[in-house]
Amino acid sequence: MNDGFGHDAGDRLLIEVSDRLKRCVREQDLVARLGGDEFAILIEEGSARADMASTVAQRVIDALQEPFEVSGHRTRVSASIGIAHCGWTGADADSALMRADIAMYHAKANGKNQFVHFTDEMQQGVLHRLDMESWLREALAESQLCVYYQPIVTLGQRKVEAVEALVRWRHPTLGLLAPDEFLDVAEETGLIVPLGKQVLRDACAQIRLWRERYDENLIVSVNLSAAQLRDESIVDALALVLTEAGVAPEALMIEVTEGALIGDVRGATAVLESLSALGVTIAIDDFGTGYSSLSHLQLFPVDVIKVDKTFVADLCGGTEHSMLVRSVLAIAREFGLQVVAEGIESEEQEVQLRRLGCDYGQGYLYAHPVPASGIDELLGLTPALSVG
Ligand code: C2E
Ligand code: CA
Ligand code: CA
Repeated sequence: MNDGFGHDAGDRLLIEVSDRLKRCVREQDLVARLGGDEFAILIEEGSARADMASTVAQRVIDALQEPFEVSGHRTRVSASIGIAHCGWTGADADSALMRADIAMYHAKANGKNQFVHFTDEMQQGVLHRLDMESWLREALAESQLCVYYQPIVTLGQRKVEAVEALVRWRHPTLGLLAPDEFLDVAEETGLIVPLGKQVLRDACAQIRLWRERYDENLIVSVNLSAAQLRDESIVDALALVLTEAGVAPEALMIEVTEGALIGDVRGATAVLESLSALGVTIAIDDFGTGYSSLSHLQLFPVDVIKVDKTFVADLCGGTEHSMLVRSVLAIAREFGLQVVAEGIESEEQEVQLRRLGCDYGQGYLYAHPVPASGIDELLGLTPALSVG
């Protein structure tokens, strides 16, 4: 409302919603606005009406279902409601609100216009997150994070042109953890910023060695997440890492997904343009899975497209995906971009991709992600040269 019709309209809507909420409760109950679009209702109930909260919650959902007329605009809202019962001993307002909050997130995740009662299991999920966060802090401090590398090769010749840096966590008790087990928490907590810096530092130190010993044109590709793109100091930080490692910006490619670009398009454009001006190569990762792919190619200074592995996986089965890959390649030619096909697992896929005119590929067919020493082996170097 604020963005579309101005703050006056937003304020009017809040007042209208408050009025409807008040009509859902009794005189002695409390309705409060916590901030933003969050409200709290406190209902004191005797043991006789144990589930009064559910009744009121349903009433609220029904009451908000009717459209609102605000400053000449007709609009609809939905509510997600979390319910916490304060019957337990030692109940206090903070923990009641926290429990209601946790339940509300479950209601939201279930698809809005719902109410959900807090359960102890929900608390456990949150505790696990908290554990994860403090473990991750420890991991950063104690260098438990390491970087694996996966080659990007020319299709056919299979010459290694680049390596993608993929973070791993050597957890002292859980073993080697893949990024999908901890990156969400890292993103949510902002720990992705120091984590990303560490990956970048390792990757740059490593590429310097490989460039000296193997191929002076070898490139290392590093993934940047949305949070990193929003961090204004990223450009300076990245330039500093390159200088400290004694690596030319041309040795570095960064990969961003389409998802990371939407949201703050202007900020993302500014960051990518500065990186591009430095001489860093920019790749769009998981291409084809996000929104408005084509407009991104015009907005952002893109050099490389990485076709998502789902399209490569189905390449030999149906015609639809090969059409998509064909179109991506045609677009890439039009824009003067390089294309890397991800997730190549079979010879058949490689043959098909070459036939479609794709030049580069990455996947288990060539190599799994491995520690730096594994890449040394692949490049015919002695492992002693690796850092980390
Ligand atoms: P991604 O950037 O799309 O990386 C490629 C993923 O595909 C890797 O998973 C890789 O192991 C996997 N892969 C490679 N070849 C094949 C194949 O032939 N078949 C199949 N099925 N999979 C293949 P990984 O290492 O688990 O990484 C998952 C995601 O985590 C990455 O997806 C990337 O988005 C993110 N990630 C990894 N490292 C970093 C990092 O340092 N920073 C940030 N921000 N994100 C990272
Ligand atoms: Ca990637
Ligand atoms: Ca990818």
